[in-house]
Amino acid sequence: MTVRTVIEGCAIATVDAAGTECRDGHLVIEADRIVAVGEGPAPEAAGGVGGVRETEFRRIDGRGLLATPGLVNCHHHLYQWATRGLAQQATLFEWLVELYPVWALIDDETCAAAARAGLAALARSGCSASTDHHYVFPHDAGDLLEVEIGAAASIGLRFHPCRGSMDLGRSDGGLPPDEVVEDRDAILAASEAAIDRFHDPAPGAMVRIALAPCSPFSVTRGLMSDAAELARRRGVRLHTHLAETLDEEYFCQEHFGVRPVEYLDELGWLGEDVWLAHCVHLDDAEVARFGATRTGVAHCPSSNARLGAGIAPVAGLLGAGVAVGLGVDGGASNEGGALAAEMRAALQFARLVGGPQALTARQALARATIDGARCLGREDELGSLEVGKLADVALWRVNGLEGAGIEDPVAALVFGATQAAEVLLVGGRPIVEGGELRTADEAQVAAEIERESRRLAARAEARV
Ligand SMILES: [Zn+2]
Repeated sequence: MTVRTVIEGCAIATVDAAGTECRDGHLVIEADRIVAVGEGPAPEAAGGVGGVRETEFRRIDGRGLLATPGLVNCHHHLYQWATRGLAQQATLFEWLVELYPVWALIDDETCAAAARAGLAALARSGCSASTDHHYVFPHDAGDLLEVEIGAAASIGLRFHPCRGSMDLGRSDGGLPPDEVVEDRDAILAASEAAIDRFHDPAPGAMVRIALAPCSPFSVTRGLMSDAAELARRRGVRLHTHLAETLDEEYFCQEHFGVRPVEYLDELGWLGEDVWLAHCVHLDDAEVARFGATRTGVAHCPSSNARLGAGIAPVAGLLGAGVAVGLGVDGGASNEGGALAAEMRAALQFARLVGGPQALTARQALARATIDGARCLGREDELGSLEVGKLADVALWRVNGLEGAGIEDPVAALVFGATQAAEVLLVGGRPIVEGGELRTADEAQVAAEIERESRRLAARAEARV
């Protein structure tokens, strides 16, 4: 039976190319696609008058709500949800050195609980599609990629996990301890197996795989090249961390004799099939190079602030035509993990360096939606509310205590405190309703991550 969902009475920010908005509009969804969007009530036929018998109708009262595209999260490490609140005053390198030995002890149960908690937090904050960058694969830990894909299916989010990797251990001059790195051939075999098993190139896909060697200081030059070759041969996207801190810049100068962006450029790692996390420390020529190569950026303002890494040149990147999506980054450097909060952080940080015109509320919303979709290569299906696109929709209450009285609903969402979705639909399916997760019991998800965080901490303690 086809399900037809009719939403009426809401403000709508479609984030289409023309920036179309409605003050009192409608959305009609059939199965997993948007079939109508616009000002005023839904067309009469959409509401079921004389409707077909095999269609089930659902109505959502949109009064007091703002509809936006579901938000798209472009950078995460879900397993880190089990190691939140640690290394509180550390720089990135200090934080990594403290956490790598703990992460070496994760297993399938840790990752299942962490992924469910992290994805639940994303859903609550209006995120309908997320990537994940998983790069720690201890021996005998189970199939961690399968575990997180299962978690995403149980919460109901669209999921683009990256098969991450590290092969440059401390004994070879890298930052991570040897116990958390893998052999290059094993990584490439596991990456190809992940594509074979999980990657769905079809329209409307719920799961797509990307390949993501971790960072210049934890991956060999050889693996970077081989991963790019494999990704392009199999038609999947490439992701990694880049230019996050000055320590990384010094590392690249010392080990490769070039700056991080030059290093990636030499390796053929800039291009429209690549999106890169952070990109804080870029000079003007590098910003232009990102634009010329159509390389995407995942901006993670809360994580960058938490680690004191710096502020990415978002206004400059947008000026160069770069797709700048938003990412919450892993829970160990952003204990909140709420994507809607990153819109506000992005706006505020851009203004701290560039003044009050550096980024508007609508530009911040576009980063969290259509640019996120571009980073994941899904702009034809996600990131805006348009007829024919997938029905990934967030509805935000703007007439409650947080938003009431703010005339502009987009300002209520981005400037204001409205950061939990009232309703979240993924492919037309309700994931959040009435501000509550419908696909999992939040108290149970919280209890599971509390248990797993404690078990991991106890194992780490016992080993010291
Ligand atoms: Zn990261």
